[in-house]
Amino acid sequence: GEALAVSARVAPLGSRLVLLLVEDLTEARRIEAVRRDFVANVSHELKTPVGALSLLSEAVMDAADDPEAVTRFAGRMQIEATRLTNLVQELIDLSRVQNDDPLEDAEPVRVDELVDEAVDRCRHQAGTKQITIATGGSDGLRVWGNRGQLAAALGNLVENAVNYSPARTRVGIAARRVAAPGGDLVEIAVTDQGIGISEKDRERVFERFYRVDPARSRATGGTGLGLSIVKHVVASHGGEVTVWSAEGQGSTFTLRLPEAGAGRDRDRRARRLP
Ligand code: ADP
Repeated sequence: GEALAVSARVAPLGSRLVLLLVEDLTEARRIEAVRRDFVANVSHELKTPVGALSLLSEAVMDAADDPEAVTRFAGRMQIEATRLTNLVQELIDLSRVQNDDPLEDAEPVRVDELVDEAVDRCRHQAGTKQITIATGGSDGLRVWGNRGQLAAALGNLVENAVNYSPARTRVGIAARRVAAPGGDLVEIAVTDQGIGISEKDRERVFERFYRVDPARSRATGGTGLGLSIVKHVVASHGGEVTVWSAEGQGSTFTLRLPEAGAGRDRDRRARRLP
């Protein structure tokens, strides 16, 4: 209805303009639908742990004279609270990467520092599962961008590699410089020997809240937001993220980001000057 009304009004301006306006409205509707879905998803994701916490606290009260049960319920409460914390943190990350201009305070960022930070973030989880994290190639490499966002992106990939791998496997983080027509890129590949991702799911894992196995993801405190954050960060940095995987054998997520230096920083700074 709306689109038709607009097209009637601008009809004298020529059919091409009408077509553009109609497309614009369709796009506006699509964005509105995505936003509505997002709010519905967030509400659902928040309700689940809150509901569980409420039930569990009742269970604790009922089991007051059974210390073993109290301990068990308290453990479950801790898991749900962690989930809630992760979800809120990732929502904050997501709103940050969507709203801010990430290159506003862009700087050369050392890749070895990003890698160290990502490893630190999963050290505990990797330790419990006896997963070895091997790193290499990052010496002397720097990428151009927002340090916090880049750390969040790489951290999410390494966290997933650890979460979706069985015990006593290896996770590799390998960095290297690759030549590209628009200036050199830094490639950071995170490889695991985990459960892998089917071809059908590979296209969808970057969508917000998409999880191949919601129950498994939940058990690890997953929110389904991590990879959508990664995708946003690389897009706003002029990079890309790709995934290779063989089911049951493992996955490799590869980030490609502009290398700092080589005149690029100067160019970008200059472009922001009035
Ligand atoms: P989550 O918080 O659930 O980990 P992500 O957005 O980070 O959310 O990932 C989306 C889904 O992609 C995960 O739920 C999981 O099913 C799948 N996935 C992500 N990384 C891996 C990996 N390294 N190996 C296997 N599956 C993965």
